[in-house]
Amino acid sequence: MVISYNNFILKQNYMNLDCQGRVQAMYIWIDGSGEHLRCKTQKPLTSNPKLLKVGIYLPLWNFDGSSTNQAEGSNSDCYIKPVALFRDPFRGDPNKLVMCEVLNYKQEPVATNNRRTCKAVMEEVKEDRPWFGMEQEYTLLDVDGHPFGWPKQGFPGPQGPYYCAVGTGNVYGRDVVEAHYRACMFAGVKIAGTNAEVMPAQWEYQVGPCEGISMGDHLWISRFLLHRTCEDFGIIASFDPKPVNGDWNGAGCHTNYSTEAMRQKDGIVAINKAVEKLSKRHFSHIKAYDPQGGKDNLRRLTGLHETASIYDFSSGVANRKASIRIPRHVGEEKCGYLEDRRPSSNCDPYVVSELLVRTTILNE
Ligand code: ADP
Ligand code: MN
Ligand code: MN
Ligand code: MN
Ligand code: MN
Repeated sequence: MVISYNNFILKQNYMNLDCQGRVQAMYIWIDGSGEHLRCKTQKPLTSNPKLLKVGIYLPLWNFDGSSTNQAEGSNSDCYIKPVALFRDPFRGDPNKLVMCEVLNYKQEPVATNNRRTCKAVMEEVKEDRPWFGMEQEYTLLDVDGHPFGWPKQGFPGPQGPYYCAVGTGNVYGRDVVEAHYRACMFAGVKIAGTNAEVMPAQWEYQVGPCEGISMGDHLWISRFLLHRTCEDFGIIASFDPKPVNGDWNGAGCHTNYSTEAMRQKDGIVAINKAVEKLSKRHFSHIKAYDPQGGKDNLRRLTGLHETASIYDFSSGVANRKASIRIPRHVGEEKCGYLEDRRPSSNCDPYVVSELLVRTTILNE
């Protein structure tokens, strides 16, 4: 339900109360779906925000794993362990958002904790300085699940005028997009741009370039910020990769990737080598690029709507119908990065970034 203007004013009254420097920390974690987020609030062990660093004063905490599909009811406690810290744009300073990883009762990573192995791999290749930039696409829905702003019966006009559009009837839900962008900047998420997408009510923002493990941390928190912003506006953000069947674009999470060697003079040689390696591992990447082992992307990677078929690997300069695109300016400057266009909008960035590194640097 959309909160009324009166309630909004009333809420500000509480938000402005002097809390005498005490800090609220919202712990955020990925649930058993591997795709959705959960959160809950506690106070850190110190109220001095300057001392708040991951690992100190932000204790290991627990939650009911049987309610998130992460544990049995009879042995339900799971642990959430703080791994990355952001400012909280909703409660304001000095409050914090705390990205956490999930551990079972033996303090081992649960099945959907893909950060552990990602972190280890990023540690292993840190000399190569892997950078990632992810283009997060999503669709705004009304509370009834219908695309936001679409006529309740029927469809808007066909695709064409909506991409990077301006003006009523061409863009749907810009207020959310603007609010989310500011929230990301405040939080310290490395947001790097936004644009309206080809399907009306579909949007994109970019996060990056982020080095190593921070890609996953920043993208997950940016998604949290989007869902939370949408709450305030009474709108839903969907990361479904094909929210509307038919002649409507799906949603992806293009992953731009480079190593130190690719960014240097004649880095195109390293880029081409990486593409060659990726071509041999197409299906292992497809399996890892959505939370359903490829089933979600099956609906999206049809070969139409600026996608390559899920069954074939392809690459090319400036080719938006390829699995891997080398941006035109990278082809011209002969160095830079490559764009993997296959990851689904609901992918786990820890999984995607880890696999890119395993294939192209560790030669797995
Ligand atoms: P597109 O033309 O595919 O729509 P975008 O401008 O949306 O491209 O996104 C490009 C992304 O590439 C940004 O997220 C940016 O952070 C990222 N990026 C830029 N340079 C590099 C690099 N050297 N390595 C990895 N990512 C990069
Ligand atoms: Mn309780
Ligand atoms: Mn883009
Ligand atoms: Mn896009
Ligand atoms: Mn792209």
